[in-house]
Amino acid sequence: MEITLEARAKINLTLDVLGRLPDGYHEVEMVMQTVELHDTIILRPQNQGIGIVCQHPLVPTGEDNLVYRCARALQQATGTGQGVHIEIQKRIPVAAGLAGGSSNGAAVLQGLNELWNLGLTQQELMEIGFSLGADIPFCMMGGTALAKGKGEVLTPLRGIKGLPIILVKPPVGVSTAEVYRGFRQDKVVRRPDTKSMINALASGNIEYVARNLANVLETVTLSMHPEIALIKDELMAMGAKGALMSGSGPTVFALTDTLEEGFRMAKALEHRGEVFVTRTC
Ligand code: ATP
Repeated sequence: MEITLEARAKINLTLDVLGRLPDGYHEVEMVMQTVELHDTIILRPQNQGIGIVCQHPLVPTGEDNLVYRCARALQQATGTGQGVHIEIQKRIPVAAGLAGGSSNGAAVLQGLNELWNLGLTQQELMEIGFSLGADIPFCMMGGTALAKGKGEVLTPLRGIKGLPIILVKPPVGVSTAEVYRGFRQDKVVRRPDTKSMINALASGNIEYVARNLANVLETVTLSMHPEIALIKDELMAMGAKGALMSGSGPTVFALTDTLEEGFRMAKALEHRGEVFVTRTC
Protein backbone atom coordinates (compact mmCIF):
# COMPACT_ATOMS: atom_id res chain seq x y z
CA MET A 1 0.00 0.00 0.00
CA GLU A 2 1.15 3.52 -0.80
CA ILE A 3 -0.58 6.72 0.33
CA THR A 4 -0.39 10.02 -1.57
CA LEU A 5 -1.28 13.17 0.39
CA GLU A 6 -1.80 16.81 -0.53
CA ALA A 7 -0.34 19.10 2.16
CA ARG A 8 -1.83 22.52 1.60
CA ALA A 9 -0.36 25.92 2.44
CA LYS A 10 -2.20 28.49 4.57
CA ILE A 11 -2.42 32.26 4.65
CA ASN A 12 -3.42 34.51 7.54
CA LEU A 13 -6.28 36.83 6.71
CA THR A 14 -5.71 38.40 10.13
CA LEU A 15 -3.01 37.97 12.75
CA ASP A 16 -3.18 39.66 16.13
CA VAL A 17 -0.95 39.21 19.18
CA LEU A 18 -3.06 39.66 22.30
CA GLY A 19 -0.33 39.31 24.91
CA ARG A 20 1.91 36.82 26.64
CA LEU A 21 0.84 33.52 28.17
CA PRO A 22 2.22 32.46 31.57
CA ASP A 23 4.74 30.17 29.83
CA GLY A 24 6.15 33.10 27.84
CA TYR A 25 4.52 32.19 24.52
CA HIS A 26 2.59 34.82 22.60
CA GLU A 27 -1.18 34.59 22.75
CA VAL A 28 -2.50 35.01 19.23
CA GLU A 29 -5.81 35.49 17.45
CA MET A 30 -5.76 34.68 13.74
CA VAL A 31 -8.14 34.03 10.91
CA MET A 32 -6.49 31.24 8.95
CA GLN A 33 -7.29 30.15 5.42
CA THR A 34 -6.12 27.10 3.48
CA VAL A 35 -5.15 27.58 -0.17
CA GLU A 36 -4.87 25.03 -2.99
CA LEU A 37 -1.08 25.38 -3.33
CA HIS A 38 0.29 22.15 -1.85
CA ASP A 39 3.22 19.83 -1.43
CA THR A 40 2.69 16.23 -2.44
CA ILE A 41 3.73 13.61 0.09
CA ILE A 42 3.98 9.90 -0.64
CA LEU A 43 4.09 7.41 2.23
CA ARG A 44 5.42 3.92 1.59
CA PRO A 45 5.59 1.26 4.25
CA GLN A 46 8.99 -0.07 5.29
CA ASN A 47 9.89 -2.58 7.99
CA GLN A 48 11.39 -0.15 10.46
CA GLY A 49 12.82 3.35 10.78
CA ILE A 50 11.80 6.61 9.13
CA GLY A 51 13.37 7.60 5.82
CA ILE A 52 12.78 10.94 4.09
CA VAL A 53 13.60 12.11 0.59
CA CYS A 54 13.11 15.68 -0.55
CA GLN A 55 14.88 17.46 -3.41
CA HIS A 56 14.47 20.98 -1.98
CA PRO A 57 17.89 22.29 -0.84
CA LEU A 58 16.47 24.03 2.27
CA VAL A 59 14.50 21.07 3.57
CA PRO A 60 16.38 18.73 5.91
CA THR A 61 15.88 14.99 5.36
CA GLY A 62 16.90 13.81 8.82
CA GLU A 63 15.57 14.26 12.34
CA ASP A 64 15.21 18.02 11.83
CA ASN A 65 12.41 17.55 9.35
CA LEU A 66 9.08 18.20 11.00
CA VAL A 67 7.58 15.12 9.36
CA TYR A 68 10.33 12.98 10.91
CA ARG A 69 9.40 14.32 14.34
CA CYS A 70 5.71 13.72 13.67
CA ALA A 71 6.31 10.13 12.59
CA ARG A 72 8.57 9.53 15.59
CA ALA A 73 5.99 11.00 17.98
CA LEU A 74 3.34 8.68 16.54
CA GLN A 75 5.61 5.65 17.03
CA GLN A 76 6.24 6.69 20.62
CA ALA A 77 2.60 7.44 21.40
CA THR A 78 1.36 4.12 20.04
CA GLY A 79 4.36 1.84 20.49
CA THR A 80 4.15 0.69 16.89
CA GLY A 81 7.32 -0.76 15.41
CA GLN A 82 6.29 -0.04 11.82
CA GLY A 83 8.47 2.16 9.66
CA VAL A 84 7.85 4.48 6.73
CA HIS A 85 9.55 5.97 3.71
CA ILE A 86 8.36 9.55 3.13
CA GLU A 87 8.82 11.37 -0.16
CA ILE A 88 8.16 15.13 -0.06
CA GLN A 89 7.63 16.94 -3.36
CA LYS A 90 8.01 20.58 -2.28
CA ARG A 91 6.07 23.31 -3.99
CA ILE A 92 5.23 25.53 -1.01
CA PRO A 93 8.06 28.05 -0.51
CA VAL A 94 10.18 27.30 2.59
CA ALA A 95 10.42 29.63 5.63
CA ALA A 96 7.80 31.76 3.96
CA GLY A 97 4.93 32.23 6.44
CA LEU A 98 2.81 29.68 4.58
CA ALA A 99 3.10 26.85 7.15
CA GLY A 100 4.91 24.62 4.68
CA GLY A 101 6.48 22.46 7.39
CA SER A 102 3.33 22.36 9.52
CA SER A 103 1.18 21.30 6.57
CA ASN A 104 3.59 18.46 5.87
CA GLY A 105 3.51 17.40 9.51
CA ALA A 106 -0.30 17.48 9.60
CA ALA A 107 -0.61 15.41 6.42
CA VAL A 108 1.91 12.83 7.62
CA LEU A 109 0.17 12.39 10.99
CA GLN A 110 -3.14 11.76 9.24
CA GLY A 111 -1.58 9.56 6.57
CA LEU A 112 0.39 7.41 9.01
CA ASN A 113 -2.68 6.90 11.17
CA GLU A 114 -4.11 5.17 8.11
CA LEU A 115 -0.96 3.46 6.79
CA TRP A 116 -0.07 2.04 10.19
CA ASN A 117 -3.70 1.33 11.04
CA LEU A 118 -3.45 3.09 14.40
CA GLY A 119 -7.07 4.16 14.85
CA LEU A 120 -6.26 7.45 16.60
CA THR A 121 -8.96 10.12 16.61
CA GLN A 122 -8.52 13.50 14.90
CA GLN A 123 -8.36 15.05 18.39
CA GLU A 124 -5.53 12.72 19.45
CA LEU A 125 -3.64 13.44 16.23
CA MET A 126 -4.10 17.19 16.74
CA GLU A 127 -2.69 16.94 20.27
CA ILE A 128 0.42 15.11 19.06
CA GLY A 129 0.71 17.65 16.22
CA PHE A 130 0.38 20.62 18.55
CA SER A 131 3.24 19.34 20.72
CA LEU A 132 5.46 19.73 17.63
CA GLY A 133 4.09 22.85 15.96
CA ALA A 134 1.35 25.34 16.86
CA ASP A 135 0.02 25.52 13.27
CA ILE A 136 -0.28 21.74 12.82
CA PRO A 137 -3.82 21.42 14.30
CA PHE A 138 -5.15 24.07 11.91
CA CYS A 139 -3.42 22.39 8.96
CA MET A 140 -5.24 19.19 9.89
CA MET A 141 -8.59 20.92 10.08
CA GLY A 142 -8.16 23.02 6.90
CA GLY A 143 -10.62 25.47 5.37
CA THR A 144 -11.22 28.72 7.24
CA ALA A 145 -10.86 28.96 11.01
CA LEU A 146 -10.32 31.28 13.93
CA ALA A 147 -7.20 30.21 15.80
CA LYS A 148 -6.59 31.38 19.36
CA GLY A 149 -4.29 30.49 22.26
CA LYS A 150 -0.99 29.58 20.64
CA GLY A 151 -2.90 28.82 17.45
CA GLU A 152 -4.40 25.51 18.57
CA VAL A 153 -7.79 26.67 19.93
CA LEU A 154 -9.75 26.39 16.71
CA THR A 155 -13.23 27.44 15.66
CA PRO A 156 -14.27 26.64 12.09
CA LEU A 157 -15.57 29.68 10.21
CA ARG A 158 -17.66 30.15 7.15
CA GLY A 159 -15.15 31.09 4.45
CA ILE A 160 -15.16 32.06 0.79
CA LYS A 161 -14.02 29.16 -1.35
CA GLY A 162 -12.39 29.57 -4.75
CA LEU A 163 -11.21 33.13 -4.15
CA PRO A 164 -8.19 33.82 -6.41
CA ILE A 165 -5.00 34.49 -4.41
CA ILE A 166 -1.60 35.66 -5.67
CA LEU A 167 1.41 34.71 -3.55
CA VAL A 168 4.73 36.52 -3.86
CA LYS A 169 7.69 35.21 -1.86
CA PRO A 170 10.76 37.46 -2.05
CA PRO A 171 14.08 35.56 -1.94
CA VAL A 172 14.62 35.92 1.82
CA GLY A 173 13.82 33.40 4.53
CA VAL A 174 12.28 34.56 7.78
CA SER A 175 12.57 32.90 11.17
CA THR A 176 9.19 32.92 12.90
CA ALA A 177 10.86 32.94 16.35
CA GLU A 178 12.96 35.98 15.44
CA VAL A 179 9.92 37.93 14.21
CA TYR A 180 8.00 37.21 17.43
CA ARG A 181 11.05 38.27 19.44
CA GLY A 182 11.03 41.59 17.56
CA PHE A 183 7.32 42.21 18.20
CA ARG A 184 6.40 45.21 20.44
CA GLN A 185 2.78 46.01 21.30
CA ASP A 186 3.52 49.74 21.37
CA LYS A 187 4.86 49.61 17.80
CA VAL A 188 1.66 48.19 16.30
CA VAL A 189 0.37 50.50 13.57
CA ARG A 190 -2.73 48.61 12.50
CA ARG A 191 -4.50 45.95 14.50
CA PRO A 192 -7.01 43.59 12.90
CA ASP A 193 -10.67 43.82 13.77
CA THR A 194 -11.15 40.06 13.97
CA LYS A 195 -14.93 40.21 14.42
CA SER A 196 -15.31 42.33 11.29
CA MET A 197 -13.22 39.85 9.31
CA ILE A 198 -15.41 36.99 10.51
CA ASN A 199 -18.52 38.96 9.49
CA ALA A 200 -16.98 39.86 6.15
CA LEU A 201 -16.30 36.19 5.40
CA ALA A 202 -19.79 35.17 6.49
CA SER A 203 -21.35 37.80 4.23
CA GLY A 204 -19.20 36.69 1.27
CA ASN A 205 -18.27 40.31 0.57
CA ILE A 206 -14.76 40.29 -0.89
CA GLU A 207 -14.29 44.08 -0.66
CA TYR A 208 -15.11 43.90 3.05
CA VAL A 209 -12.68 40.98 3.51
CA ALA A 210 -9.99 42.97 1.68
CA ARG A 211 -10.55 46.02 3.88
CA ASN A 212 -10.14 43.94 7.03
CA LEU A 213 -6.85 42.25 6.14
CA ALA A 214 -4.35 43.06 8.92
CA ASN A 215 -1.29 41.44 10.50
CA VAL A 216 0.51 42.96 13.50
CA LEU A 217 3.74 41.15 12.59
CA GLU A 218 3.96 42.99 9.30
CA THR A 219 5.84 46.00 10.69
CA VAL A 220 8.40 43.73 12.37
CA THR A 221 9.26 41.75 9.23
CA LEU A 222 8.95 44.86 7.05
CA SER A 223 11.69 46.59 9.03
CA MET A 224 13.99 43.65 8.17
CA HIS A 225 12.86 43.32 4.54
CA PRO A 226 11.52 46.58 3.05
CA GLU A 227 10.77 44.86 -0.29
CA ILE A 228 7.61 43.48 1.37
CA ALA A 229 6.11 46.99 1.30
CA LEU A 230 7.12 47.42 -2.35
CA ILE A 231 5.45 44.15 -3.32
CA LYS A 232 2.26 45.16 -1.51
CA ASP A 233 2.26 48.56 -3.24
CA GLU A 234 2.84 46.99 -6.64
CA LEU A 235 0.01 44.50 -6.17
CA MET A 236 -2.38 47.27 -5.10
CA ALA A 237 -1.29 49.50 -7.99
CA MET A 238 -2.10 46.64 -10.38
CA GLY A 239 -5.63 46.46 -9.04
CA ALA A 240 -5.52 43.90 -6.23
CA LYS A 241 -8.45 44.20 -3.84
CA GLY A 242 -6.16 43.87 -0.84
CA ALA A 243 -2.65 42.67 -0.01
CA LEU A 244 -1.04 41.47 3.21
CA MET A 245 1.99 39.64 4.54
CA SER A 246 1.13 36.09 5.63
CA GLY A 247 2.15 34.86 9.10
CA SER A 248 5.63 36.01 10.04
CA GLY A 249 6.40 36.52 6.35
CA PRO A 250 7.99 37.28 4.05
CA THR A 251 5.31 36.03 1.59
CA VAL A 252 2.78 38.64 0.52
CA PHE A 253 -0.63 37.52 -0.72
CA ALA A 254 -3.23 39.52 -2.61
CA LEU A 255 -6.90 39.03 -3.45
CA THR A 256 -8.32 39.51 -6.93
CA ASP A 257 -11.66 38.96 -8.63
CA THR A 258 -10.53 36.55 -11.31
CA LEU A 259 -7.73 34.06 -11.91
CA GLU A 260 -6.94 35.86 -15.20
CA GLU A 261 -6.19 39.04 -13.28
CA GLY A 262 -4.12 36.97 -10.87
CA PHE A 263 -2.01 35.55 -13.70
CA ARG A 264 -1.50 39.04 -15.13
CA MET A 265 -0.20 40.34 -11.78
CA ALA A 266 1.89 37.23 -11.22
CA LYS A 267 3.61 37.71 -14.59
CA ALA A 268 4.43 41.33 -13.77
CA LEU A 269 5.90 40.37 -10.39
CA GLU A 270 8.06 37.43 -11.45
CA HIS A 271 11.22 39.46 -10.85
CA ARG A 272 10.28 39.77 -7.15
CA GLY A 273 10.75 36.09 -6.32
CA GLU A 274 8.62 32.96 -6.30
CA VAL A 275 5.12 33.78 -7.54
CA PHE A 276 2.02 31.57 -7.47
CA VAL A 277 -1.61 31.99 -8.40
CA THR A 278 -3.85 29.82 -6.27
CA ARG A 279 -7.32 29.83 -4.69
CA THR A 280 -8.83 29.55 -1.24
CA CYS A 281 -10.33 26.18 -0.42
P1 ATP B 1 5.14 28.86 9.57
O1 ATP B 1 4.23 29.68 8.72
O2 ATP B 1 4.48 27.68 10.25
O3 ATP B 1 6.04 29.62 10.45
P2 ATP B 1 7.00 28.75 7.45
O4 ATP B 1 6.28 28.62 6.15
O5 ATP B 1 7.43 30.13 7.84
O6 ATP B 1 6.10 28.10 8.56
P3 ATP B 1 8.49 26.37 6.95
O7 ATP B 1 8.38 26.32 5.48
O8 ATP B 1 7.66 25.45 7.74
O9 ATP B 1 8.26 27.87 7.46
O10 ATP B 1 10.03 26.18 7.28
C1 ATP B 1 10.66 26.59 8.46
C2 ATP B 1 11.97 25.80 8.63
O11 ATP B 1 11.64 24.45 8.96
C3 ATP B 1 12.80 25.74 7.37
O12 ATP B 1 13.93 26.54 7.53
C4 ATP B 1 13.17 24.26 7.19
O13 ATP B 1 14.57 24.05 7.22
C5 ATP B 1 12.54 23.53 8.35
N1 ATP B 1 11.73 22.35 7.95
C6 ATP B 1 11.63 21.19 8.61
N2 ATP B 1 10.80 20.35 8.03
C7 ATP B 1 10.30 20.96 6.95
C8 ATP B 1 9.37 20.58 5.94
N3 ATP B 1 8.79 19.37 5.93
N4 ATP B 1 9.06 21.49 5.00
C9 ATP B 1 9.66 22.72 5.02
N5 ATP B 1 10.55 23.11 5.94
C10 ATP B 1 10.88 22.25 6.91
